[in-house]
Amino acid sequence: MSTKYIFVTGGVSSSLGKGIISASLAKLLQARGFSATIQKFDPYINVDPGTLNPYEHGECYVTDDGAETDLDLGHYERFLNVPTSQANNVTTGKIYQTVIQKERAGEYLGKTVQVIPHITDEIKRRFSLLGETGDYDIVISEIGGTVGDIESLPYIEAIRQVRWELGSTSCLVIHLTLIPYLSAAKELKTKPTQHSVKELLRSGVQPDILVCRTEHSINMSIREKLALFCNVDIRSVIEAIDADTIYDVPLLMLKEKLDVTVLEKFQLTSKHEPKLTQWKEFLGKLKNPLHEVNIGLIGKYHELQDAYKSILEAFIHAGAVNECKVNVVSIHSEKISADNVQQVLGDLHGILVAPGFGERGVEGKISTVQYAREEKIPFFGICLGMQCAVVEYAQSRLNLSDAASLEVDPSTAHPVIDMMEEQKKITQKGGTMRLGAYKCKLKKGTKAYNAYSSDLIEERHRHRYEFNSQYLEQFEKEGMIASGVNPETGLVEIIEIKNHPWFVGVQFHPELKSTVESPHPLFVDFIKAAMDYQ
Ligand code: GLN
Repeated sequence: MSTKYIFVTGGVSSSLGKGIISASLAKLLQARGFSATIQKFDPYINVDPGTLNPYEHGECYVTDDGAETDLDLGHYERFLNVPTSQANNVTTGKIYQTVIQKERAGEYLGKTVQVIPHITDEIKRRFSLLGETGDYDIVISEIGGTVGDIESLPYIEAIRQVRWELGSTSCLVIHLTLIPYLSAAKELKTKPTQHSVKELLRSGVQPDILVCRTEHSINMSIREKLALFCNVDIRSVIEAIDADTIYDVPLLMLKEKLDVTVLEKFQLTSKHEPKLTQWKEFLGKLKNPLHEVNIGLIGKYHELQDAYKSILEAFIHAGAVNECKVNVVSIHSEKISADNVQQVLGDLHGILVAPGFGERGVEGKISTVQYAREEKIPFFGICLGMQCAVVEYAQSRLNLSDAASLEVDPSTAHPVIDMMEEQKKITQKGGTMRLGAYKCKLKKGTKAYNAYSSDLIEERHRHRYEFNSQYLEQFEKEGMIASGVNPETGLVEIIEIKNHPWFVGVQFHPELKSTVESPHPLFVDFIKAAMDYQ
């Protein structure tokens, strides 16, 4: 069958959850036997979000092939359990970069290069790249931002053209909108949606389906009104009521028959009833926990919830496996010092020191590591968190009181965390870290080996610094071992402390590979250790 395309636009307001709606629809189509993928188009001019501060953009999600991408790709992977790639995230920056490179190469020789057709053609080329691989029955493209934004205009025009070229049985436009509730009037209001659809119509795009975010159920008369004034059939008005957890949304969409409506419009018949047993089992465990633990998440970007999105989701997956409610306590590393560490961290059953960049907050992270190590509280260090664990061990146990990471103290006499060799000559910032999936060989009998039940794994990276192997012997003699090493380069990827119930630091980002159907083994074992500690 030829690939079908779905475009998801947003109206009225940002943050309505286009990523979750797209992922939920893809999940239902996958559960009915279709192969689906989702791609995100971001209308900003950065080439990728890798150079954006987490305060601006939340977490930067890294794919196996080393793309630094929008955090929505994390939702796509967590829902579909299928990896994404470079092609799944496109920005206006990338589109312009390609067009300008072609212009310089003389590909448009003699022509004026313009938004229409050159930019829109490049957008269209990217819309269909994944479809053309032949791997997918359905490709969902989520358009970032809100209809009416100046910067989304070329995308809307490209959608108009594709919809016209492919027709209604191969291309659909879903508009996600907000139905606000006015508590004084006790009424749900459809007018903002009518305006937002009018805005789309001004650009020549008629949405086929409306997905309506709402705090209260929308009754038949509201559905009729929306259908009449937005030119859609009544069954294409889909309610998306606020959910307790994002993982409820696929089932809510199933109830609203979003998947059935889509398949009908595409004139496709479902291969079988939706297979969602594993998903429902996960939800059952998530909602009926038998245990409860408090886990400290020590980071410095806590002002923005989305900065640690994948870590928070990985805890949800690992909690469900263990039938354990994981209360994540966000603690600002700048507020921790050697003097108050007991008081701040005293009620925790496990401590995770988060990834990060730069020197701010590192001291608090090192005090945290020392406390977890000495008090034998389960400890999980990720990337910068692992590097802090190494520095703390060197300072406390190797008698290298001035040991540091070169990132924090460029003049240290003992750079136990050093800049990677290949990084030393790099001056460009964008896309130049050690990025993407690398193999790692695990040592038998270690915590890591026990968690993965395998001796060769692959995990995703995003860093410039690494464990300085010149010190490895000294560390191992004192009880901190390298339990995972890159088989090609010898880089230390995992460290552990032997005489501790659970002390593991990883140079990679395990949180990026945790999904509902494959919770990450290190997170699962960390929660187990926290339950034992409790
Ligand atoms: N800043 C550290 C490095 O670049 C750690 C990066 C991270 O935590 N992702 O090596």
